[in-house]
Amino acid sequence: MPSFAQRLIAWQRRHGRHDLPWQGTREPYRVWLAEIMLQQTQVATVLRYYERFLERFPTLEALAAAPLEEVMAAWSGLGYYARARHLHQCAQLLISERGGAFPSEPAAIARLPGIGRSTANAIAACCFGRRVPILDGNVKRVLCRHLGIPGWPGEPAIEARLWHEAEALLPEQEVPAYLQAQMDLGALVCTRLKPRCGACPVRDDCLARRQGLVTELPTPRPKKPLPEREATFLVLKHGERVLFELRPPAGIWGGLLSLPELPAGREAVDYAAQRFGLTVKAVFPAPSFTHVFTHFRLRLAPLVCAVGPSASVAEPALRWLTAEQWAQAALPAPIRKMLSAIP
Ligand code: SF4
Repeated sequence: MPSFAQRLIAWQRRHGRHDLPWQGTREPYRVWLAEIMLQQTQVATVLRYYERFLERFPTLEALAAAPLEEVMAAWSGLGYYARARHLHQCAQLLISERGGAFPSEPAAIARLPGIGRSTANAIAACCFGRRVPILDGNVKRVLCRHLGIPGWPGEPAIEARLWHEAEALLPEQEVPAYLQAQMDLGALVCTRLKPRCGACPVRDDCLARRQGLVTELPTPRPKKPLPEREATFLVLKHGERVLFELRPPAGIWGGLLSLPELPAGREAVDYAAQRFGLTVKAVFPAPSFTHVFTHFRLRLAPLVCAVGPSASVAEPALRWLTAEQWAQAALPAPIRKMLSAIP
């Protein structure tokens, strides 16, 4: 039987994806951007953003020179904004410390902001011809099933084993084609739900298939109750406009525009007067809802405050935006959802 890699590469030639805009280039900037966008986002969504982002920031230099707020706005809609923040930080670091050149060693690439081992290896293999494996979500799923590996792949011991297996399966030649084949197989055939084992090029020696464990593997993350937090956000409205605050670069929702958060124990009218010099005429609570983060659940309670008569605020981090303007701005998804629910 041909090797695992040989079968995947042959399958990819006939059935894989060949016309994605980041394929066929060895330019690190384009490959890196695609890898970062694809980290937590489906290909179909990335396709809507990739070229547009490149039009706005065609080079590493252009990205490094742009204000963070513009980068965040171009990322708006892709979510997981820490990726955009790191992208910008990484571009600035590459320009200031390396004259705009990407390192070619996987370990050196992995030390850059926002680039983990798998992304670093993908860049090193596709742009610099290194013989290194990748281990993204798709590859983990395929390996767990094909090799019949139980245990949650996020656990360090399981992940270490998967890296070891991924290295052992690497072909001597055609590494970029093999990596693309792995990603395509995970995305098109060995999917999370309803995998199409009948169309799989490695079905004959797939342990999960033989042992009837396809739906059991990979083992899901162990469930544990998430701690719950609460936060009250002020929707300070003056006519058609709402007051937003640019959050500091570090921390939750860093670098995004958000609504001012009411500190615990404070009262909205006093806080608005003291913090922003605003007079609140009336306060209405709007429906609250819960957003689930990876490590906690956040109960968001909006307080709509009608502001008047004067609404001038001088701080550079504050913005009065109309609904059309905030629809285009880089807002955290829960804040956007909360605002959209307010009549
Ligand atoms: S046979 Fe099925 S479970 Fe096994 S690798 Fe192929 S698609 Fe995945």
